[in-house]
Amino acid sequence: MQKNINQNELSKNLEASVMFIDMNSFFASCEQQDNPSLRNQPVAVCIYISPYSPIIAPSIEAKKFGVRTGMRMNDAKKLCPGLIQVDTSPDKYRDYHIKIMDILKSYSQDVIPKSIDEAVINFKNYHLVYKDLHQVGMQIKQDIYTQAGDWLKCSIGLAPNTFLAKLASGIQKPDGFVTITPSTIDDVLSKLNLESLPGIAKSTSRKLVMAGINSPLELRYAQPLFLKNALKSIVGYYWYCRLNFMEVDLSSKPYKSMQAMRQISKNNRESIQYLQDLMLALCMRLEKRMVTQELYARSINIHLSYEDGKAWADHTRSELPIQDGNRLLDIYKKLITEGEEKFGGPLINHQMTSMSLNVSAFVTSDLVQSDLFYTDQKRDHLRKVVYQIKDRFGSTALMKGAEVTRQKAFQDMIGFGSIKDLQKEEVWEDNDDWLETDFDVFD
Ligand SMILES: [Mg+2]
Repeated sequence: MQKNINQNELSKNLEASVMFIDMNSFFASCEQQDNPSLRNQPVAVCIYISPYSPIIAPSIEAKKFGVRTGMRMNDAKKLCPGLIQVDTSPDKYRDYHIKIMDILKSYSQDVIPKSIDEAVINFKNYHLVYKDLHQVGMQIKQDIYTQAGDWLKCSIGLAPNTFLAKLASGIQKPDGFVTITPSTIDDVLSKLNLESLPGIAKSTSRKLVMAGINSPLELRYAQPLFLKNALKSIVGYYWYCRLNFMEVDLSSKPYKSMQAMRQISKNNRESIQYLQDLMLALCMRLEKRMVTQELYARSINIHLSYEDGKAWADHTRSELPIQDGNRLLDIYKKLITEGEEKFGGPLINHQMTSMSLNVSAFVTSDLVQSDLFYTDQKRDHLRKVVYQIKDRFGSTALMKGAEVTRQKAFQDMIGFGSIKDLQKEEVWEDNDDWLETDFDVFD
């Protein structure tokens, strides 16, 4: 498990020694890998099977018709009548993720997964091992083909730092390989606009334009202090670093909070039992993430949204740091009961459109367990072992009673709102804050 990696460096690195691997149309390609009849077909992986389900990953073939992540199936079919809908299968994607990471780790110890379908390999300390990193990249593609799956393709970017390597990986899709070096960077940047840089969304680009920076090339040659003032943030300085071969994206900060959230379809909110099960499923998701990160939470928050645009939220603090999903559920239930008394009606009702549970104020496990009065070591250990077994043998190898009897809510966990959860927990790192916006990691 990788924690608190910090390979940031503020000295300039002019060698293209950082590699960014981005799997192409990852979820859809995994489906095509396992089911050859889907190959060469426009496929849409969806949250659930329904004409209105949002698409979470179109295949390379579907993208050619203009099908995009986030579209609803019925709208996408207007663009691509032959589009085949496939249900999401997170365990499958996770297994391929692990296979691919194992391949990458055979080349370098410095492999940092960025999401379920992206990873960075830092080759800075491997000068003596590899003479030609382009050749290494080609070999990685070949290894993925032979060892992970012959239908799995990736785009590779090679550059002096993580940001530029990611940028390079996005230039040629699918199956691309682009290298950015100090001698080619200006040419690459001159073909892009500000918002095509990963991490620059409308709000940032607006601020930059206001300050007189209209293009990536102008961004690269602006003074760091000027950029810091333009964006009114240290982030301005980071942009200077990124475009001038310094490394600011290879660290992972410890978790500040974890969220498990789910949008609730009209159909599902009909069932109060489903909503109750969903709450348990979300608690178990938080439990799993805390176990994996060896953290315990003291601050507990809930946020429920309703059809009429209103929301209910509450929070509490627990003296005893909490990791157990069932205890967490008890706390949420208590908050809801108290809320209902004040509100004078049921909070878990047919109008609920989303449920979001959040835990924070973490304490690390060594601190919790060194407390003389803490008596739950055995339970904690058992919990950890259960997840280790699940990791090794698949998530159905050992199930809690609740998981067996309440399958539907658990299966539905891989909803739109929880995709981020999936990546974060599966790669054991909360690296998303390296860029200010979410970009499409399933492309
Ligand atoms: Mg991708």
